[in-house]
Amino acid sequence: SKNQSFKIINHLCFDDGSYKYVEIIGNPTSYQKNNKNFNGTFRDITDDWMKDAALKDSEEKFKLLFDSNPTIYFTLDENGFIISINQFGIDYFGYTKDEIVGHHVSKVFYTEDAKKAMKNLELLKYSSNDFLQWEIRKVKKTGEIIWVKETARLAKSRHGKSVYLIVCEDITSEILNRNLIRKKQQELMGAKEKAEEAALEKQQFASIMSHEVRTPLNAVIGMTNILLMDNPRDNQIQELNTLKFAAENLLMLVNDILDFSKIESGKVNLEKITFDLPIMVNNLKNSYQFKADEKGIKINLIVDESIPHQLLGDPTRISQILNNLVSNAIKFTEIGFVDISIRAIQQLNGSVKIRFEIADSGIGIPMEKHQSIFDSFSQANSDTTRKYGGTGLGLTITKRLVELHNSKIFIDSDLGKGTTFYFDIDFIVSFEKLLPIINFNDYSDTKIAGKRILLVEDNPFNQLIATKFLAKWNAIVDTAENGKIALEKLNSNSNYDLILMDIQMPVMDGIATTKAIREHQDISLQSIPIIALTAVAMENDKEKLLKDGMNDYLSKPFNPTDLYKKIIQLL
Ligand code: ADP
Repeated sequence: SKNQSFKIINHLCFDDGSYKYVEIIGNPTSYQKNNKNFNGTFRDITDDWMKDAALKDSEEKFKLLFDSNPTIYFTLDENGFIISINQFGIDYFGYTKDEIVGHHVSKVFYTEDAKKAMKNLELLKYSSNDFLQWEIRKVKKTGEIIWVKETARLAKSRHGKSVYLIVCEDITSEILNRNLIRKKQQELMGAKEKAEEAALEKQQFASIMSHEVRTPLNAVIGMTNILLMDNPRDNQIQELNTLKFAAENLLMLVNDILDFSKIESGKVNLEKITFDLPIMVNNLKNSYQFKADEKGIKINLIVDESIPHQLLGDPTRISQILNNLVSNAIKFTEIGFVDISIRAIQQLNGSVKIRFEIADSGIGIPMEKHQSIFDSFSQANSDTTRKYGGTGLGLTITKRLVELHNSKIFIDSDLGKGTTFYFDIDFIVSFEKLLPIINFNDYSDTKIAGKRILLVEDNPFNQLIATKFLAKWNAIVDTAENGKIALEKLNSNSNYDLILMDIQMPVMDGIATTKAIREHQDISLQSIPIIALTAVAMENDKEKLLKDGMNDYLSKPFNPTDLYKKIIQLL
């Protein structure tokens, strides 16, 4: 319409149906109302045009992708001003495009983390990495804080300027979960620590309690033993035996509580010493004979002849298991029998599998209680304590002790049908000669007679009992109430043959005294045998005592036979 040059792009169709894109440039040569003349050129631009169209097409596709992808993309100039953002990002943050583009990124997206974000971007300039990634908080227009994982690259724009290309991925729920897990972990750690503390306190409490209760019990049991040894009248024998039985039961209960807390805290290690299982069960049977006779029930002992007499194991724990089961069997049986049976059910080179079975014709245990009776402080009936006594700890300990032997205890019982408990334990056959069992009432053995023994013990009851036994065996006994007095006695008279040393004493305790003796300037005193007498029957203490210079260890209230054996061994 005007007298002007023009440039148009159009396509020309040919007769054969093909077409070409052409750039037509026209320059007017003359311009009159109805007569327009141009001088023009047609340039075939088909190839360029097609390329351009492809580019446009891919740009559009990219833009579509850029805008619709559920990921936030934005670009920043090198000073942190937002150059572009995809539609998803705009919608996500809840702004209009104008409220974002052209603004500084720290004003729009970041809150407290703005400084950190700018520092990270700055780092990217000097980093040898193509991109850097970080987790950061961003804020929406509504004020809602979100967590994103940001990946930033540094690129050059067409004009050579630095441009940050940033991709954000919302990780809010992941972070919340992570925080929740961390919090839960912290809570668990706290709870674990508390539980461990409580377990330790419980154990310390049990240990202190056992010490406090064991000391007077030591006196009761010890005095009963002495009275029994002093030729009591016939009618007194039975009364003294009852007294002994009751005191020993009480001791068993104290031991149970201590043992339970020890097992619970995983502190029980099994011993491996040579012992005679058939004799052990025979003694066990004898110790219950009195009670069984009293109730009019029969105890049958069935011992497989093929069981070797020397086995390697923990006799204390095995007899603890059997004691628990046999005492229950007798307790819960009014008429009939209690069978104690041990059979070798498998003998392989050097080892033997033994089936222990304790069966009774007593009240039985209903099927639905077969599991729960093994729980601590649990009894089959609510009136069991009233009727039969007990604490409900015995089977819990028994079960754990059997498990410590890598085995499992089974029960076969029903109400009114009697009860059978059975389990198998593998033993290694030992070839070590066993010492003959010594009867402490047998004074014909003169090994202790005339030996000078220093008893270091503060408790007058314990002093009295130990002195009585030692005197029975014709030893020459001297006493000291604490370590300091003991050292004074040793300094003025160095010909003691053996020392019995209490651990917990006022003024100077047994450990300090033993250390002083082991480091004494008089060499002949250094090697004097020392047996620790302690009320704290803790397995780990035992090793510590040996490390502290003791030769042996005996827990109070001691069994006179054990004391006798240990003294003879050391002498
Ligand atoms: P306690 O004997 O001190 O009550 P235990 O843990 O030894 O505790 O036993 C738990 C419960 O299992 C007993 O109270 C009793 O109800 C039941 N029980 C155990 N042994 C027998 C048995 N031989 N016959 C019948 N009931 C038994």
